[in-house]
Amino acid sequence: MNYDAEVITTDVLIIGGGSAGLWAAKRFSEAAPERSALIVDKGPKDWGGLMTMAGGDFDAVLPGEDVDAWVQDLVYYFDGLCNQSDMEEILRRSGDRLRDYQKFGCEFFTKADGTLQSVPQRGLDHVRLYPAKLKGRGGELMVKNLVKQLKDQKVGRLGRIQITELLRHGERIAGAVGFDTLSGKFYVFHAQAVILATGMGGWKTSYGKNTPTGEGVALGYGAGARLMHFEFGRVWNMPRYFGWEGQTTLMPLGGRFINALGESFMDKYSPILGANTDPHYTTIAMAMEIRAGRGPIYFDLSRINPADTVLLRPQNGWQKLNYDKLSALGMDLFRDNTEWVPQMTVSYGGIDADIYGRTGVPGLFAAGTACATEPGVYAGGFALMTTSVTGHLAGEGAAAFLQGADSLPSTGQEAEIARLRTEAFKPLGQQGLKPKEVVTCIQRAMFPYDVSILKTENALLHALREIQRIRTEDVPRMAAADPHYLMKLREADAMAFVSELYLRASLARQETRAGHYREDFPQRKGEPRWLLWSKGAEGKPVATWKTVPLESYKHPVTRYYQDNFRFA
Ligand SMILES: Cc1cc2nc3c(=O)[nH]c(=O)nc-3n(C[C@H](O)[C@H](O)[C@H](O)COP(=O)(O)OP(=O)(O)OC[C@H]3O[C@@H](n4cnc5c(N)ncnc54)[C@H](O)[C@@H]3O)c2cc1C
Repeated sequence: MNYDAEVITTDVLIIGGGSAGLWAAKRFSEAAPERSALIVDKGPKDWGGLMTMAGGDFDAVLPGEDVDAWVQDLVYYFDGLCNQSDMEEILRRSGDRLRDYQKFGCEFFTKADGTLQSVPQRGLDHVRLYPAKLKGRGGELMVKNLVKQLKDQKVGRLGRIQITELLRHGERIAGAVGFDTLSGKFYVFHAQAVILATGMGGWKTSYGKNTPTGEGVALGYGAGARLMHFEFGRVWNMPRYFGWEGQTTLMPLGGRFINALGESFMDKYSPILGANTDPHYTTIAMAMEIRAGRGPIYFDLSRINPADTVLLRPQNGWQKLNYDKLSALGMDLFRDNTEWVPQMTVSYGGIDADIYGRTGVPGLFAAGTACATEPGVYAGGFALMTTSVTGHLAGEGAAAFLQGADSLPSTGQEAEIARLRTEAFKPLGQQGLKPKEVVTCIQRAMFPYDVSILKTENALLHALREIQRIRTEDVPRMAAADPHYLMKLREADAMAFVSELYLRASLARQETRAGHYREDFPQRKGEPRWLLWSKGAEGKPVATWKTVPLESYKHPVTRYYQDNFRFA
């Protein structure tokens, strides 16, 4: 092992090279071409984060469409919790990012007249996605094309380095430290500004959700940034025995879930929307059906028009591998009913940053899913849109910040760096719990239905006690055999942090709204409010409620998406 340190100086350090990080780097180097930008990712260099596995479907407001109409859809969909001013800015720029992708060579399905083919989302009037043409490889091609741009713009890119701490110079964030997850080499990055593009927190439910574990969100919190939307988790419906990309395009085209009696049960829970709705509502219904003894749940795609399967059948990539294996076993996803289950995947909790990624901590920016954007309901194609736009804007924000900021020296932090280095490697080569054992304990606490879907106070309190025990007893006892497992250890630590905030926030919100369903408080209560978290004394999270400032927004809240459902 080589535990030597390498010291690197850059103007902006972008932690995370997913959709948000790549766009942030691109925009920063366009806006400040004389300055240097460096992306550091714990995954392989240029792998592109979750986007590399994504279908590539993209939401966008195209020229001639009305941004306000989209915002109104989202005010309704988010049950009033929409940050209307930020959402308007994001949507206003979404068409530009779609056009950028087309310019880079990414293709989307078109109709006979040459215009883009769209798929409406979640029974909303205006929100729609544009499906990528190469089903199964759309996201991968987006990554390749973006990385090509960054090479042309001479953006530095490093892989296999996990960032463990941020550096400070006075009040300002001045870089970060981390280590090579293969060789163990220690890295010091001196930077004038840092963009956290580290993705969400989550619970490692499948290969598509292995990396979003929340270290970046925890780093932001530790540095003094506020967090929000922690009561919302993404509970998705997934096939029980294989991986699939969800049902974003399948539901609007006729896909539906049926129970063991063959009933299309969503018609009962929502006579208006039926099956064509948000997965968070479908999974509530799935849990209720299974609890009532009407499980298992199957996905029935037999009603999809055969002409439309061209939009859905994977032509390449990981989905094609799964599809071919299923075919070899005599199963066809588009012909046979397959068993599906609710799966708690990632947290919607993130950093409360403004539209330029400013976190309130000088020199610290955040972008993409590391920021809180959606309150637990999610339209297909939304993430590639929001992450590209917020990444782009954070790059612009960081460039503007550096124009007016003093230049920081890269000396004066030697003692702190030495301390962080000792701290980072402390668990290496020790005897102790394996990170995987701790991850399994966290998953056991978080996955019961009454913690993740049909939440109740008793179950949440029980899970909170267990997560607090894990944080105080198990996390400090973890050890790592090598740098790879040291990375896993850091991930498990962040997962425990995210889990505690999820539980505290879920307990605090004593109502049902958007993606948060409290079985013991099944109604909405009062004005829409956001729940924010900041670091209090001894690092303890302190909650603050903020009423959504409807008086300064364009659109009153007159309709609620949740009113389409009858669960209670
Ligand atoms: C299978 C699948 C299909 C999808 N399909 C679609 C789709 O068709 N349309 C759509 O809109 N969305 C889709 N999504 C969602 C979308 O791809 C993601 O939400 C989006 O790409 C997230 O981008 P991000 O940059 O915010 O985060 P991420 O992609 O998670 O990137 C964060 C990066 O930060 C790195 N990182 C984290 N912590 C550290 C650390 N401590 N040190 C260094 N690096 C770190 C990670 O390795 C990662 O590369 C899909 C997702 C999956 C998994």
